[in-house]
Amino acid sequence: MKTKLFINLSFSFYFIKSFLPFINLINETITDTKTIYIYGHINPDSDAILSPIVFADFEKKIGNPNDIIPCRLGEINKETQYALNFFKIKAPILITESELTEANEVYLVDHNSPSQSLDFQKAKIVRLIDHHAITGFETTDPIDIITRPVGCTCTILYQFYKQNNITISKTIAGLIISAIISDTLLLKSPITTQEDINVVKILAEEIGMDYENYGYSMLEAGTDVSDLSESEIINLDSKAYKVNGYMIQIAFVNSMNVDELLYRKKELLNEIDDFISKKHLQLFVLVMVNIIDLDSTILVNGTLANVVKSAFNVNLTNNQAFLPGISSRKKEVYPNIAKIINQLPEYINGFNWANFNIFLLIITLVMLI
Ligand code: MN
Ligand code: MN
Repeated sequence: MKTKLFINLSFSFYFIKSFLPFINLINETITDTKTIYIYGHINPDSDAILSPIVFADFEKKIGNPNDIIPCRLGEINKETQYALNFFKIKAPILITESELTEANEVYLVDHNSPSQSLDFQKAKIVRLIDHHAITGFETTDPIDIITRPVGCTCTILYQFYKQNNITISKTIAGLIISAIISDTLLLKSPITTQEDINVVKILAEEIGMDYENYGYSMLEAGTDVSDLSESEIINLDSKAYKVNGYMIQIAFVNSMNVDELLYRKKELLNEIDDFISKKHLQLFVLVMVNIIDLDSTILVNGTLANVVKSAFNVNLTNNQAFLPGISSRKKEVYPNIAKIINQLPEYINGFNWANFNIFLLIITLVMLI
């Protein structure tokens, strides 16, 4: 009895001290330590790689007794590698679906869509920290969720340290700055909030870092696609969505010279075509962002290609269009496209009502003749 009380007390202390942001009730059984995997989305960007490292650090500092392992669901891009090298941090380990068991728990960061993750049925997700729109996220058990409309998951994690009075090490500060700079394109993208700007400025000041200089070099490192195949380019920062029953893919690639990418347009479009047939998509949009001017050039294909015309009020010339002032998937590209697709008839199990209506019309016409 005494032991139980003691354990309960120490556990209460752990939770009250550690998880103020989550208002967590003590509903966990006190057994051996668990293994907890933290991971961001597939085709990981810097936030998806660095938030698990930062979150694991926070949890350890706060006294989470479990074995917390930062993970990744894909290859590290050059931009993220630049940040990891700069702060001399090892990359999170690669984890696959077969490694998820009933015994492990998962903290999900920087995504909540099943199409951007390992199978949600196999992952025992107990926490979610994110800054994206909620798209298709469902759970069977109650879980801790914090999503906020800020520019980066690391901005939310920074507040965890502050709320719990935990000192942020120089390395973790550097990783937080890197993730925010990546997601907000050096605090210039329309997703940037004042909070993101404040966090970067405060931390940069604390660790004596010229964040603009560093950020520019980091982003520049990510624009080098010279040794990447077309397939690698379209998968670099690529996200799948299901909208109104339609399957769409929006891929981003940062560039300082979009002409370098357009030089490979034919090959890129071929690769996009292959991807569309392999994944049975209705739309693929490759967004090539000029990160200096924050304009985009898009390459589009699929049966819904014309959707982008109304979405951005542009004309497609040979599957290509220029989108002045557009640089954010989350705030601009995805919502604009989703809005138009939601006005179409719903696409059910590969069955398109629009086609069916045309079919009916033809039958009627034939019968009239
Ligand atoms: Mn991300
Ligand atoms: Mn993010």
